[in-house]
Amino acid sequence: MPSFPHTPIAGLRLPWASLQAALQAALQTSAPDTAPPAATPATLLAHAGLALPAAAEAQAAHASPTWLHAGPLQLGPPRPLPPQRHADPNAQPASAVLLLAVAPAETPPPTAPTQAPNPAACTAWLQAHAPGWRQACAGPNPLLVLLWLRLDGLGLLLAHRAGEAGCWPLPALELTGARTQRLLLGPAATAPARPPAPVSAEPEVEPSPRYAPQRAALGPAQQHLHLARVLLVGAGRIGSVLAHGLLRMGVQHLGVVEPDVMEPHNEDGDLAPLPTGSPKLQALARFVRGVARPGATLALHPWPVARKAVGPLVALANLLVVCTDNDAARLWADAWALATQRDRLVIATGIQPDGAQAELRLLPAGTGCLACVGGYAQAHDLLQQLAQPLPPATPADVRQQRMGSLRSWSALAAHAGLRLIEQHLAQPSPQALFRHLAETEDGSLQVRDAWHAPDLGHGGAAFPGRHPRPPCPFCHSLLGAGTEGVSAPRLRALTQQWLAQREAGAA
Ligand SMILES: [Zn+2]
Repeated sequence: MPSFPHTPIAGLRLPWASLQAALQAALQTSAPDTAPPAATPATLLAHAGLALPAAAEAQAAHASPTWLHAGPLQLGPPRPLPPQRHADPNAQPASAVLLLAVAPAETPPPTAPTQAPNPAACTAWLQAHAPGWRQACAGPNPLLVLLWLRLDGLGLLLAHRAGEAGCWPLPALELTGARTQRLLLGPAATAPARPPAPVSAEPEVEPSPRYAPQRAALGPAQQHLHLARVLLVGAGRIGSVLAHGLLRMGVQHLGVVEPDVMEPHNEDGDLAPLPTGSPKLQALARFVRGVARPGATLALHPWPVARKAVGPLVALANLLVVCTDNDAARLWADAWALATQRDRLVIATGIQPDGAQAELRLLPAGTGCLACVGGYAQAHDLLQQLAQPLPPATPADVRQQRMGSLRSWSALAAHAGLRLIEQHLAQPSPQALFRHLAETEDGSLQVRDAWHAPDLGHGGAAFPGRHPRPPCPFCHSLLGAGTEGVSAPRLRALTQQWLAQREAGAA
C-alpha cells in the first residue's frame, strides 16, 4: 500500500452524482447515436482538487488508512483549482489533484492491472494524455491521483508523485451517496471490474408481516430503506414527525441532533407532553418508544449542529435530514455534508399571508449546496447568526414571531420529505431537486419542481468564449474537504464571499 507523506491511503472517495454527470457529459459530447462514447484516444475527461489528510489527523489515525476526498469535478482542459482543506486560512494548502480519464474498450491501460505498476509507463501516459495537468495544481510537486476507467469495465486507480518511485495502485474507489458503493480497482481487482458491492455488511432484513405492504409497494428497494443510516438535525414540529415516520418505516439507524428543551408550543410536534424545560430529545424518545423495528437504533445527541462531534456523525450517515428554522444551523449542517460528501434533504416551512409554503431541497453529494440551490432566506442575517458562538438547532421559533404555524402543514412537509427519502434511497437521484409546495389564495395546492444538474465548470475560465461564472464558494472550498476543513472562521469567510458574489450579481 502506498505511503504518502503521513499515512497509508485507503482509497478515493468521489460523489456518485458527480461521476455520473461527468460520464453522461462524455456520452453526450461523443457522436450522438451510433459511435461508441468517448471513442477518441485523448481520454482525459475531468479533474478535481483533492483533500489530503491533515498531518494531525493522519498521525492520530496512523494505524488505520485514511481516505482521499475529491472536490467538484471540472470538465475540460486542466485549469487552476481552488485548494482543498485549509481550515486555517493562513496554512499552506495541501496540493493534490484528481484526473478522471475514460478510455474506449480494449485501450491498453497506463500500467498493467494485474502486475506491479510501472512508473515509467505511468509517467509516459501522463505526458501523452494529460500534458497540462500541472496547471490544475499550484504546488511544485503535487500528489496526482488518476482514476482511469475503460468502457468495457476495467478500472484503475493510481497515485503518482514525481521523485517518489512514480506510481502506485490505490486499493479502492468509494462512490458516496444515498447508497455508498465501494469498488476495488487496479491490481487488487480482477478484470473486468466486479459489480459494486454495498459497503454495509448488515444482514438481510427478515421478512416481517408488519412490512409486507411496504415491501409490496417498494419491492427490493425496501432493503435500502431498512439498512439506511439517517441523521436528523432538529426535532421540532417537522423533525419530530420525520423521526417518528422514519422509525415506523423501518430505518435501521436514526440519529437525532437537537440541543433544545421543551416549550409549550412544541407539543404540536410528535413529542411527548413533558414539562417545559425538559430536553426535547427526551420528549421525542418517549413519544416514539416501541415503534422502531426490532434491532433498529435511535441515537440522541443533545448538541448544537456547530459542535465538532457532529461532523463524524454526518460522515457515518447515508443521508442527512435538516429541519431547523435557523439559516446558520442549516449552513453548518450543509457544510458538514459537503465536507464529508453526504446526501442531504433540507425542509423548511412558512405561513405567509397568502397561504402556507414549504421548501424541500434534496442535494445528493456533488450536486450543489444550499447556497447555490435556492440560497438562504435569512441571507441578510446570516453573518450575524454565524457570529453567535454555537447556533442552536431550533432557535426561538421565528415563525411563531411571524405568522404562526400549523401542525397540518408541518406534518404535510415532513411526509413529503419522507416520500422523497423513500424514492431517493430506492433510486438515488443524480441531480439536486428544489421542490416548492404552496397554497394559493384560492386554496389550491401547487407543487413546483426544479432539477439542478451538477455544475461541471462549463461557465468557467476554460471556455474563454463564455462569460465566466464565479464558482460557488461553499462547494468549491468545502466539497470533500473532510471534517477538519469545517470551522467557524472558514464558514464566516465563505459566507462573506458568497454574499459579495450575490451583491455583485444583483448590481
Ligand atoms: Zn454551492
